[in-house]
Amino acid sequence: MGLGADDNGAEVHAGDTFGSGGEFSKTLWRCKVTIPKSVKIGGKRYKVCVSKTNEMYTLGEIDYDKRVINIYTKTKARKIPKSEQQVVFWHEVVHGILEEIKPKLSKDEQFVQGMAEHLVDVFKSARF
Ligand SMILES: [Zn+2]
Repeated sequence: MGLGADDNGAEVHAGDTFGSGGEFSKTLWRCKVTIPKSVKIGGKRYKVCVSKTNEMYTLGEIDYDKRVINIYTKTKARKIPKSEQQVVFWHEVVHGILEEIKPKLSKDEQFVQGMAEHLVDVFKSARF
């Protein structure tokens, strides 16, 4: 399921919360909450591809069959800040997890986006 303006205004939400990079993304990179090359969800390995897209509003997608998560750095409409790409990555991961445990919930974009933003916040604020 993609993340974009046509999905409950999730794109606007992420932008509002995190602005356009800056301090937030610096903190994230320092905490090493970066976008990995691949992850396992429910025992299945997903390849993570970071690239540009010709789409207008899609910021990310997960393909359960091909086992690929796409994260976009630039759409036809705008450049996507790294801090926002992080949220998009977790958004797609939450979709993947929910497909394993509660597929119906995966259709709730607001829930998925809320989970993604909270997860990023947890990582960002973690102290060890
Ligand atoms: Zn979504």
